[in-house]
Amino acid sequence: MLKKYMPDIICNSVLDIDLNLLKRKGIKYLVIDIDNTIVKWGRFEVEHEIIEWLKKVKMLGFEICLVSNNRKNRVKKIEEILGIPTVYNAKKPLKYGFLKAADILHKGMKNEKTAVIGDQFLTDVLGAKRLKLFAILVKPLDKNEFFVTKINRLVEKFILKYFQLS
Ligand SMILES: [Mg+2]
Repeated sequence: MLKKYMPDIICNSVLDIDLNLLKRKGIKYLVIDIDNTIVKWGRFEVEHEIIEWLKKVKMLGFEICLVSNNRKNRVKKIEEILGIPTVYNAKKPLKYGFLKAADILHKGMKNEKTAVIGDQFLTDVLGAKRLKLFAILVKPLDKNEFFVTKINRLVEKFILKYFQLS
């Protein structure tokens, strides 16, 4: 029963995602988490490799929207730094933020063309799978996390073990 919530791909980092595979799967839109997926939690510096990766992603023709459960101030600052549209207070795993991203990206959800990338099962992957989107789970960039995330990690560990993915 849990299987339908299984991530489609698991990677160490966004840098390891096979973008050509996504292309072959017909994916055009990437909904990407911010904290501990592309920026360390609580920090504003974006690593050079990540900036280069985002450029490459755009060059390959993907369209990106950053979707975060974090507050407006932080998310808008990241939007400014990266020049990529964002959704803040996304309430993942609820559908709200994903639908808002869909509106920004293509004025409506094109499920089969959208992949979600994030570092948390309980927000990013679960939310993606509830909408039947392609889900890519990456390892968190940093151990430093929001306290709620730390609690979620315990559940996540259990679930990934169930999937035999860890
Ligand atoms: Mg995250």
